[in-house]
Amino acid sequence: MKKVLVTGGTGLVGNALKTIVNEDSLEGEWIFVGTKDADLTDSNSTRALFDRVQPTHVVHLAAMVGGLFHNMNNNLDFLRKNLQINDNVLQNAYEHGCVKVISCLSTCIFPDKTSYPIDETMVHNGPPHPSNYGYSYSKRLIDVQNHAYHDKHGCMFTSVIPCNIFGPHDNFKQEVSHVIPGMINRMHQLIDENKGLPEDRKEFVVYGTGKPLRQFIYSLDLAKLIIWALVNYESVEPLILSVDEENEVTIFEAAEAVAKAFDFKGKLICDTSKADGQYKKTASNRKLRSLLPNFQFTAFEDAVKTSVKWYIENIDNVRK
Ligand code: NAP
Ligand code: GDP
Repeated sequence: MKKVLVTGGTGLVGNALKTIVNEDSLEGEWIFVGTKDADLTDSNSTRALFDRVQPTHVVHLAAMVGGLFHNMNNNLDFLRKNLQINDNVLQNAYEHGCVKVISCLSTCIFPDKTSYPIDETMVHNGPPHPSNYGYSYSKRLIDVQNHAYHDKHGCMFTSVIPCNIFGPHDNFKQEVSHVIPGMINRMHQLIDENKGLPEDRKEFVVYGTGKPLRQFIYSLDLAKLIIWALVNYESVEPLILSVDEENEVTIFEAAEAVAKAFDFKGKLICDTSKADGQYKKTASNRKLRSLLPNFQFTAFEDAVKTSVKWYIENIDNVRK
């Protein structure tokens, strides 16, 4: 019987996978683990987890993860922790005879100076954006490791490359968060603190110029695609899992969608003293579309609305 170990099973993507696995009553046994189950930076702890679970398949999501500002301040930690986690997980998957591993890279690891749209062949073509080089190089090495395990031992270890992700169970913690959960958390706080003020005197601050472009995927859409890849994608080469290029939005448009979801009628102003990060990382989903032409992505505004609703309903238990 298929036994799927999901590392990072307690995070944004892990929880989305759990939801889809339960909704669709997927076959096999699925085990979702977080730091309480094993510290994957530690080789003994990782080995003990694999000894205990004896997985046949691994969806490897566990990582030190964070938005632009967290990355800018912690490149060394992102590099070291993720190198350790990835090495421990892949080596144990090999030693325990796992038939397949899917690991998660990210579109933010691609070269900063590149032609667009970015595709799967470009991962190693030049230095990443300086803001997140620690995270980027650790993730790029997963692709190198996957090839090396395949060359030496014939392992089917592969990777997917999601664009920016958001959804229920996101990390809303201000210093750590990505842009959408960060803005949801700050806007909720602003609305709460300014209850008595007329709408036109309320001001929400969008960090940076608001001009950078991003493709956003809803975590539950990504979960469906990862499950599809686990069953159907049989190549070591990475696969970009992203919405279409025409669905790319500016950071300011993302802020407008968050405001709409909260029914916030105040002003949105940009704080240009804050960093913009990479201007864009427009990725092509041509390879995915060639394999799975009819996949329907959730509309961005609907997914933002659902995420805001989830945040409000779970306010006492969210990571913030
Ligand atoms: P997340 O919500 O921050 O969750 C991270 C997960 O990793 C949690 O389950 C966490 O466990 C676990 N973890 C972290 N350090 C660990 C350690 N030392 N030992 C064991 N488990 C550890 O992250 P996410 O957004 O779901 O990200 C999932 C994957 O997608 C990551 O590989 C990330 O790089 C990739 N990705 C994310 C984005 C995005 O926008 N979020 C975009 C592209 C790619 P605890 O809950 O116990 O802390
Ligand atoms: P990135 O996509 O890897 O660059 O990371 P983020 O998800 O953190 O997005 C960063 C972009 O959103 C930058 O242009 C930031 O200036 C902008 N931004 C606007 N408001 C926020 C916020 O509240 N938090 C974060 N993390 N970024 C914000």
